[in-house]
Formats: sequence, C-alpha cells, structure tokens
Amino acid sequence: AITNHMPTAELQALDAAHHMHPFTNNDELAAKGARVITRAKGVYLTDSEGVEILDGMAGLWCVNIGYGREELADVASRQMRELPYYNTFFQTTHVPAIALAAKIAEKAPGDLNHVFFASGGSEANDTNIRMVRAYWQAKGKPGKSIIISRKNAYHGTSMGSASLGGMSAMHAQGGMPIPDIHHINQPYWWGEGGDTAPEDFGLARAQELEAAILQYGEDKVAAFIAEPIQGAGGVIVPPATYWPEIQRICDKYEILLIADEVICGFGRTGNWFGSETMGIRPDIMTIAKGLSSGYQPIGGSIVTDEVAAVLDSIEFNHGYTYSGHPVAAAVALENIRIMEEEGIVEHVRDVIAPYLAEKWTALADHPLVGDTSIVGMMGSLALTPDKAARAKFASEAGTIGYICRERCFANNLVMRHVGDRMIISPPLVMTPGEADILIERATRALDETYARVKDEGLLKAAS
Ligand code: PLP
Repeated sequence: AITNHMPTAELQALDAAHHMHPFTNNDELAAKGARVITRAKGVYLTDSEGVEILDGMAGLWCVNIGYGREELADVASRQMRELPYYNTFFQTTHVPAIALAAKIAEKAPGDLNHVFFASGGSEANDTNIRMVRAYWQAKGKPGKSIIISRKNAYHGTSMGSASLGGMSAMHAQGGMPIPDIHHINQPYWWGEGGDTAPEDFGLARAQELEAAILQYGEDKVAAFIAEPIQGAGGVIVPPATYWPEIQRICDKYEILLIADEVICGFGRTGNWFGSETMGIRPDIMTIAKGLSSGYQPIGGSIVTDEVAAVLDSIEFNHGYTYSGHPVAAAVALENIRIMEEEGIVEHVRDVIAPYLAEKWTALADHPLVGDTSIVGMMGSLALTPDKAARAKFASEAGTIGYICRERCFANNLVMRHVGDRMIISPPLVMTPGEADILIERATRALDETYARVKDEGLLKAAS
C-alpha cells in the first residue's frame, strides 16, 4: 500500500508517474519532486519529512477556520452513517440541504434568501450563466444573454466559468470564451493606472461597463460579474470610486450584478461577504471555498427574492448530482456554526486583520516591494525594480515572483505569486504571533530574492 510512511522520494516518483497536477508544468515538477503534505493543524502544514510549513494561502484561499477541526470530522462521519447521499432533484429534499440553505439566507445581506447548490465555485458560476439567461427568458427578454466580465478575473476552470474569467492563458488553450461573454479592463491602478489619480482611474474603469452596455445594447446584456476584490488575479483592491459606479450602472440599465464571493465570502474581508465590505447589492452571489472551509467540496449561487421568484415560475433545466450533497452540506453548516460561536469574522475585523495590515504595509520599506495591498485577510505585494516609477521588471512577467515563491517555500511559508505580485490569504483564525512568523519568513524570502535578483542582474525595469 502507498502510505505516509513511505520514503518521500518514492511518493514523489509515484506522483510524477501517475498524478497530473492542475495548473502545473508537470515535467518541471517531476524533475524536482512535489512536496508531499501529510497532515495539518491550525495554520500549519506538515510535510513527509516532518517539516512544518506556515500556510499563508489557507490551502487555496479556503481553509478559513484552520486545519484539524475534529467537529467537522465528527459531523461528516455522523452524516455519512445516517444519510450518505440523496439528491434534491424533482420532489425530494433532506435536512442538511434545508438547514444550510436557511443558514446561508440568514447570513447573506438584504433579500439574498435562496440558494442553488453546486460542488464548487466553477460549477456555481456555470449555474449563474444558465440562471441569468433563463431569468431574462422567463421575463420575456430572451435577447438579454450577454455577460460582461473583466480581464484577469478568475471565475473557475470549466468552459463556462473560465470563459467568464479573463485569464488569457486559459482562453488560449482552446475554444474560449464561449459566445456572448465579453471582458472589460480591470481596476488595477498600481499596474495600469499610469499618471491618472486612483479615484479617476477607478471611475474610468467602471465606466467601461457603461460603454460596453451601450455598445452591445441594453436589451442584449444580461449581467455583469466580478469578484469584490480580485483574488487569483493578484489580490487587486479597486480604487474606492469603482464599485459605487458599477452599482449605479447596473441599476440604471437593469443589468444583474453577480458578485463572485468564492474567495471574499465567509469572513475573508472582515465581513461575512466582500459585497458588504465594498458596499454593493448583488442580485446573485457565487459562494464556495470558505463555505465549508474546504473540508468538503461545496459551492452555490445565492439569489434575491426577485430572481428566485422569476426562476420559480419556470422549470430551470439545470442541476448537479451533488447539488446540496448531505455530507458536504452538514459540514458547511458546522463550519458556519463554529465561525459564529468563535466570533471568527469579528476576530478578522477587530484583531488579526488590523494587526497583519500594519506589518504587511510596512513591507513597503523593502527595496523590492512597491504596492502593499491588504483587505481583511487577503493581501498582495507588487515586486518592482523601481517603486517610484511603479515599474515592471524587464524579465518575463513572473520570473521574479517565481523566485520569491521558491524562497518562501524554502523558508517554510506558502505564499503564491501571480506574475510578479506575491499574494497571501491565510486562515482567518491566525493569531498575532503566527502573523509575526508569517512576516518574518516573508521578509527573509524577500531579502533572499533581492540578493539573487541583484546577483543575476535581473533588477532591471522594462522599458
Ligand atoms: N471564483 C473565484 C473568485 C475563485 O477564486 C475560484 C477558485 O479559485 C473559483 C470561482 C472556482 O472555484 P472552484 O475551484 O471551487 O471551482
């Protein structure tokens, strides 16, 4: 049998022989061997050599309540024994799905009171594409089918959700975006704002939505989708003028606003939902990740009373075998119960996010760091050869970010890179002491990156 007790090299060889990693150059990985993670507790992972690694990404932005929660294991085991599976198609339901939907309705702002379940964020965003089109058809406006999104957005990896996303490297590998999805520019002031003031830039980027609606026709546009704060695109916090203008435009032209809360939801920004932090009123929210803290695969779309009423008037021909899966739903419900009981959102807002923010923004003193953005427990650093000029490196985008990520990993810190931006999204239960360790390791990694970049003559700005 293949177990945790096997030598690391043997596990790595088997991994390379049979396991295709997502979003990975598998040849490159096979040459050096994947780090084998064997267990985890709190904010720490342990690898097969017994080394502890501080998980600055909460897995993939999802393990919000931290690793090793026995309560979630107990609930899963109990639910599996009682009712491991049943579906919610046609005319059946079960208590975990009922209870989770009711709890989500209670937590979600305004009249976002109805949930359509999926197994993750990609599936939920596919639901959203189908849902907004079915909605406008049911309202007698079948022409409204265009969805507007943003370049460099991430909404998932299925054909539909990757089409909503604005990742050109994904689109380039075939057949995307699918028809009737268009992308406007992102509100990334540090990287794209030039000499424009952030407030003016935020307004201008939001007004691209209005221009797109007028170009395609108000009677053709169904919805606009965006993450309250772009995550996988590099933790890009929009200027304060951006979201109010987007809300105004959606209201004016009767465009459904979809907030993709897959990362921002469930406490990450210091409120239950990023929409609350950004002051917007979406018609639909995409949720996943923090909903179950990653302990089970589950996601969904939360919709307003009005959207639900329209969809309830037709048969929406859509659903997944695992929509509302009882074990996943029971675990998600327990996750939310723990978040409430321990006041985890309040811990983020009042304790750990302000503490981390102070230390994170102080990294701007490092010679390699330009922008230091952070909202709640999601932050980013722009690496730059010249911070005054907000310059990019002359080397291929991502070269320096990759070196920095490797230096983080060597210092037992998981911090990802998106191009030459470094990003963090740690578990929300992090303590101030653990935040200190994160900053210490990040600083060491930045110092080592700087030394290497200087040595290799890479400290050059793109012309
Ligand atoms: N939407 C956002 C904002 C995400 O960050 C992600 C994943 O990172 C997704 C959707 C896709 O979710 P999943 O990987 O669960 O399909």
